[in-house]
Amino acid sequence: MKKCPFCAEEIKDEAIKCRFCGSDIPDDEATRFIDSAQSETKQRWNGFCITAFVLSLLLIPGPTSGFSEETLQLILGLAIIIFVLSIAFAFIGLSQVGKNPSMRGKGLGIAAIIISIASVFISILF
Ligand SMILES: [Zn+2]
Repeated sequence: MKKCPFCAEEIKDEAIKCRFCGSDIPDDEATRFIDSAQSETKQRWNGFCITAFVLSLLLIPGPTSGFSEETLQLILGLAIIIFVLSIAFAFIGLSQVGKNPSMRGKGLGIAAIIISIASVFISILF
């Protein structure tokens, strides 16, 4: 036996309509399915934000001593490409999260932009 969610009378488990108040009883299976579907969307991470964040971490300047001039130029070229990609992914991700607030990753997207710009500034200064 289960309780009718509308009038709280005891009704049969198989009932789809309450015999006391006449309400349609939501199917347990269906309710559970909707619940899990909703929590999945809530916890979905935005791939663009994650990618942007990972790319921005690659930009953090490391020790450059011991590298030849050619290697440094190669690293600089890669850094510029990664910087552009990271900022682009972060903006795409943030606009997607903006349209769908249940998505996660806003913090990562913002962090990606900050880390990318900070890394470039540090690289220029030193
Ligand atoms: Zn009822």
